[in-house]
Amino acid sequence: MLIGSYSPALVVISIFVAILASYTALDLTGRIATTKGRAAYLWMCGGAMAMGVGVWSMHFIGMLAFNLPIDLGYDITLTALSLLISILSCGFALWLVSQPRLPLSQLLFGALIMGAGISGMHYTGMAAMRMQPGIDYDPRLFSASLLIAFGASLAALWIAFRLRQNTPYVRLARSGAAVVMGFAIVGMHYTGMAAARFGDGSFCGALGNGLSGKGLDNLVLITTLAVLIIALLTSVLDARLEARTAVLAQSLTEANKELTQLALHDTLTGLPNRILLADRIDQAMHRVTAHGGCFALMFIDLDGFKPVNDAFGHHMGDQLLREVAQRLREDLRSEDTLARIGGDEFVLLVQLGEPDDALRLAARQVSLVSRSFRVAEHELQISASIGIAVYPGNGLNAQELLMNADAAMYHAKGTGKNGYSFFDASMNGNARRQLQLLQDLRNALEHHQFRLHYQPKFDAANGRPVGAEALLRWEHPQHGLLLPDKFIELAEKTGLIIPIGDWVLNEACRQMREWYVQGYTDWRIAVNLSALQFCHVGLVKSVTGALERYELPANNLTLEITETTAMNDADVSMVVLQQLADMGVDLSIDDFGTGYSSLMYLKRLPANELKIDRGFVRDLEHDSDDAAIVSAIVALGQALGLRIVAEGVETGVQQTFLTQLGCDSLQGYFLGHPLPPEGFMQGIHLAEHKA
Ligand code: C2E
Ligand code: MG
Ligand code: MG
Repeated sequence: MLIGSYSPALVVISIFVAILASYTALDLTGRIATTKGRAAYLWMCGGAMAMGVGVWSMHFIGMLAFNLPIDLGYDITLTALSLLISILSCGFALWLVSQPRLPLSQLLFGALIMGAGISGMHYTGMAAMRMQPGIDYDPRLFSASLLIAFGASLAALWIAFRLRQNTPYVRLARSGAAVVMGFAIVGMHYTGMAAARFGDGSFCGALGNGLSGKGLDNLVLITTLAVLIIALLTSVLDARLEARTAVLAQSLTEANKELTQLALHDTLTGLPNRILLADRIDQAMHRVTAHGGCFALMFIDLDGFKPVNDAFGHHMGDQLLREVAQRLREDLRSEDTLARIGGDEFVLLVQLGEPDDALRLAARQVSLVSRSFRVAEHELQISASIGIAVYPGNGLNAQELLMNADAAMYHAKGTGKNGYSFFDASMNGNARRQLQLLQDLRNALEHHQFRLHYQPKFDAANGRPVGAEALLRWEHPQHGLLLPDKFIELAEKTGLIIPIGDWVLNEACRQMREWYVQGYTDWRIAVNLSALQFCHVGLVKSVTGALERYELPANNLTLEITETTAMNDADVSMVVLQQLADMGVDLSIDDFGTGYSSLMYLKRLPANELKIDRGFVRDLEHDSDDAAIVSAIVALGQALGLRIVAEGVETGVQQTFLTQLGCDSLQGYFLGHPLPPEGFMQGIHLAEHKA
């Protein structure tokens, strides 16, 4: 019998290759388990290649490590076949461990197939030597090698299945497992080799036309290492990418959550807003329809909030609103909804066990709010008026319920505030009043009930008057002189603002013509335009008409549009504004700072003036944020070549401050109230002393 010997270096290398192949395989099962769809199949194919080549090359290097006293060669076809068997059985193993579950029967069956695959590869590889006479195998060692192949496969599959998820220490666990698996594969191989007996006078049939052993070891080794390392690197990089993607996906989910929260909640108090409230009311109505029962809608309006806000500024107002929200929420149940739907308006939706519950709760909420609040060292006293609508009974849909609760709230306010009222059909008076006002508004133009009051604007630097803003007033036969906030919204809603706006434009130009003739040729008269007028096709014609009628140069007229109007439909605005600017009309962006201007757009607007909203001016002295905003607006306006006007100047300190910041002109009660034209000139002379 020929006695074989092993080259120790190659044996060590074969063990190393087996461990590396095992590690790669374990790592790849992790990839397969965490990817989905086509990518998982790609990983499986790549993994089968890498692991198959690895296991096979361990075996082949093991064969090369074996020396017989005769020359050896390897039949190419059979060698290739052994490689194929290795790849196929590794592919099968990877597929098996990437299944969601691996019951014992499946594990045993898989181990059988994989064991057979590894043994098949080994003995096909041995057959590739084409020994003459054939190799004689020791039956006991042969059986042992099969058993080891089976056992090793069983262990490998089980370990791979357990370690496929990315748990903590998974790399360490995989390394340990790879060593065990590597030795198991090597053990099978060398047991198989030990089983082989080569008779005396044997010779290798694959010698002449097969692969010869010389140099083959290096080639196989290098190729294998390359394949395994590429597979490993790809796997590691992909795992990192996946981890990053997971982090991104996580933050996206969070951002989405935040957006939903923002869309459905009031940012100041964090309470549900009108949209979410409407949804909750619908749900509550469905519940009542399906299961019976009833619920109440309470409209809560604060009494005395506006004076606090005006006196202490909106920061204090905001703080107070937060405190109120906190208190109102105090003893609500989780199924109740408290929403904030406007400045100082809250709505409470509560399920009722019995109708008396509503009464008790309303009384409790009223008393909660009437306890004084402590905000920033101030003791503040306000109260709440609550209107209650009950479903079923006081409305058929969310809108009606809200309107009726609102009407009941007005009733509570009317009967002395700091209390609550249940809705009653006779309370629809408020709606009726609005309707009456609308009818009056329709006739107001015809009956010449509109007036214009004029508020002067002054040059900040030298205190000289530079013009006036025309402000609309309605001389109502019953209600007296009404300010725009009482009727402009109604006029806009009904489209009446178009003829009213035309009247304002003409009247203002007529007045300006009078002043012009008196010698104030450099004054500008400012007219406010509402969003609706701005979208109206006739605007440019109206403006041209008014200027021609009163023979006024276009530059004596300033049109004020609010920032929000100007930005709303940017492209339409741009066309209209450009036409007006081409005529030479002066354009001013009113209430600047309250909207959301895009700088890009602002730059393209053909405006001449920015009017800083009076909200910023009001808190200038006490609020460093507002001061910073004003100086930023001034800088911005100067950079864009616009005049800066500050409105709402009420004190000398504000006047000095705004002048120092670089405002061009000033307007406000400190310098002059809006006045009827008769008293205007006298008012101006008084004001000139202050300015
Ligand atoms: P606006 O264009 O921002 O007008 C300035 C408002 O601030 C005026 O209120 C004016 O009386 C007020 N005001 C002036 N100085 C001070 C001050 O020092 N402190 C305070 N707290 N307020 C001051 P008014 O006349 O009630 O007008 C309110 C709004 O109604 C105007 O805001 C404007 O948007 C609108 N409006 C007025 N007249 C017309 C009009 O003819 N057509 C249209 N479409 N809107 C108009
Ligand atoms: Mg204005
Ligand atoms: Mg304004």
